[in-house]
Amino acid sequence: MHAVTFSQQHADWQEVPDLAPPGEGEVQLRVAYAGVNRADLMQRAGQYAPPPGVSDIPGLEVSATVANVGASVDHLAVGDRVCALLTGGGYAEMVNVDARQVLPLPRGLDLRTGAALPEVFATAWLNLFMEGNLQAGERVLLHAGASGVGSAAIQLCRAFGHPCFVTAGSRAKLDACHKLGADAGFNRHDGSFADAVQAWGEVDVILDPVGASYLPDNQRVLNTDGRLVLIGIMGGRHAELDMGRLLMKRQRLLGSTLRSKPAAAKGAIMQALYTHVWPLLESGEISALLDRCWPIEQVNDAHAHMESNANTGKVLLMINA
Ligand code: NAP
Repeated sequence: MHAVTFSQQHADWQEVPDLAPPGEGEVQLRVAYAGVNRADLMQRAGQYAPPPGVSDIPGLEVSATVANVGASVDHLAVGDRVCALLTGGGYAEMVNVDARQVLPLPRGLDLRTGAALPEVFATAWLNLFMEGNLQAGERVLLHAGASGVGSAAIQLCRAFGHPCFVTAGSRAKLDACHKLGADAGFNRHDGSFADAVQAWGEVDVILDPVGASYLPDNQRVLNTDGRLVLIGIMGGRHAELDMGRLLMKRQRLLGSTLRSKPAAAKGAIMQALYTHVWPLLESGEISALLDRCWPIEQVNDAHAHMESNANTGKVLLMINA
């Protein structure tokens, strides 16, 4: 089969050995589209190795048709149109995955849209509602609001009644966030977001993919008993924590990575999406924000686009469409 491999920070679509048949509890998928995630760029740069035992082929989410079903899988059949959360291996013609990480496409959605769902909605759901433990009416600050993850998180906040403030890097991106349901926003190139957030009102949960450069301001705007959920370190990994503020305001700092979670935990998150998010996608109340799709042979162009912060929402790769 063909798949993407990385060599010296360059991606190549080339022939690789065929996969073994799916093991017990697995399905083999014929990939239609793969979603591009920031993590793929980090993997290409040698900064984010796959977890032990996982394929070196990048790709954390796909839409696909089921091609083969392993033993003990009874809820999926050959020919089903699905989307899947992966631990790797998605930039390929075929991929094997634990069946718990696979969901049917939401009714009415096509394969192209399906590839834009698993990683960002799973990340947003996990970190807002499971790790962040959002309670009724609590207020949220979302950084990188126009990212793939941000575009999903804004819509979940709106759908579940949580006012949200976003930061993003341009007027156009902030406008896109408002259209998705963000209540207020701030251009990160205009300086510190802290005063603008405080004027809007302190927040109970922060979903933060930035890390070090935002830590002091995040602590300033986070309420008593607030939760700062760290999901990325685009702004650096070392910063000074104000432990006095942490203590006095009973703030909680949580680190969270989806990729390294075991299949059972990923499956539980996918089940939560199936129960709570799939109906909203099927009714049209929320949707995937698609930026642009490239043929897989142009994977380097797709990565360069994301690397330059040019995308608003999801970047996709077309494989067997
Ligand atoms: P994406 O669509 O590529 O969006 C990333 C955006 O972040 C950029 O377009 C840019 O938007 C903003 N940005 C870049 N560098 C920044 C910096 N130094 N400071 C502030 N903002 C910056 O990314 P994605 O795939 O949705 O992922 C978003 C983030 O979530 C990434 O950090 C990713 O690693 C993380 N993530 C974590 C998990 C997890 O399990 N922990 C899972 C999925 C994603 P502007 O132009 O608006 O600034």
